[in-house]
Amino acid sequence: MSTVLDLARPDLLDLQAYSHAAWEPTLERLHANELPWRSLGDNSIAGLNRYPEPQPQVLIDRLAEVYGVTPDRLLIGRGSDEAIDLLVRGFCRAERESVLICPPTFGMYKVAARIQGAGVVEVPLLREREFSLDEDAIMVAMRKSEPASRVKIVFLCSPNNPTGNLIAPGIVERLCDSLRDRALVVVDEAYIEFAAVDSFVTRIGRFPNLVVLRTLSKAYALAGARCGGLIGDPALVEFLRRLIPPYALPSPTIQAALDALQAPQRATGSARIQVIKEERERVTAALREIGAIQKVWPSETNFVLVDCLDAGRCLEAIRATGLLVRDVRKQAGLERSLRITIGTPEQNDRLLRALERI
Ligand code: PMP
Repeated sequence: MSTVLDLARPDLLDLQAYSHAAWEPTLERLHANELPWRSLGDNSIAGLNRYPEPQPQVLIDRLAEVYGVTPDRLLIGRGSDEAIDLLVRGFCRAERESVLICPPTFGMYKVAARIQGAGVVEVPLLREREFSLDEDAIMVAMRKSEPASRVKIVFLCSPNNPTGNLIAPGIVERLCDSLRDRALVVVDEAYIEFAAVDSFVTRIGRFPNLVVLRTLSKAYALAGARCGGLIGDPALVEFLRRLIPPYALPSPTIQAALDALQAPQRATGSARIQVIKEERERVTAALREIGAIQKVWPSETNFVLVDCLDAGRCLEAIRATGLLVRDVRKQAGLERSLRITIGTPEQNDRLLRALERI
């Protein structure tokens, strides 16, 4: 019977993970060459003189509960960036295999592939159809890619950065189905908490080649802690756990993530997500009334993409009011565009006033 590991790099299948110091918290540690005393002023709970637990079980259990999956389906690391890197390293052999991306999209898929020496096949989103996925072109590209530079991972981002839109779930299901024995379908859901749809995590049991990326960097306000991960088939998770550096998550990060997942923090978090969504709608409506803005793309995220009459002038005006937004004009199809993160109501007002004055 085929398994998702048939898609993995064959040269890594028998890799023995680095044998890290055993995690036995009831015993005193003389097995990891640590110093027995804390650094002066180290008030952390775990003590920074100690290596952290490699895949911290309490955090994995808690996150698995939040995401509605069993813990054996979850791998956590330094943001979803690390998950992207691990997937590419674990599934694409240098100069022999490729990833497929749908630009304009998040830049790290391509960077991770280039660093690994993997190829990058690009199937652009259809701008004239609200940046929807070109399903037929993806299938054509998949067929063409065989066998010289076989595509092993299709990266999809939903909602997509920087366009802000969702991918139709039917397309993802069809791709998972038709690529079952050929490629992983990775759905990056960094912004899903701001969207009005369910996560693809609910479909994870149906498709062994489906992988979902989640992060605590956005809706959980922990970008500085670096914590995110992937959800997928248990065999894939076990494989990638052998590839991830042994102490990937620093102990302050583990503690910050556990704190952020407690009930009071989650309640505040939900209220803040609600504010961001309301502000997103208010800012979108206000931007649509501004002459300097040609188009405001609908968004299911905590940012909006705008096309400007003169993006350079808009950037200058926004900067002059003390705010930074993302210049995305170098990306194909976005030659007049800026990506604006939704801030506090006061910041959003300031941004709108700056653009109104142009
Ligand atoms: N995916 C997308 C779509 C993103 O926009 C980002 C961050 N900008 C990431 C992944 C990486 O997030 P993390 O902080 O979890 O590494």
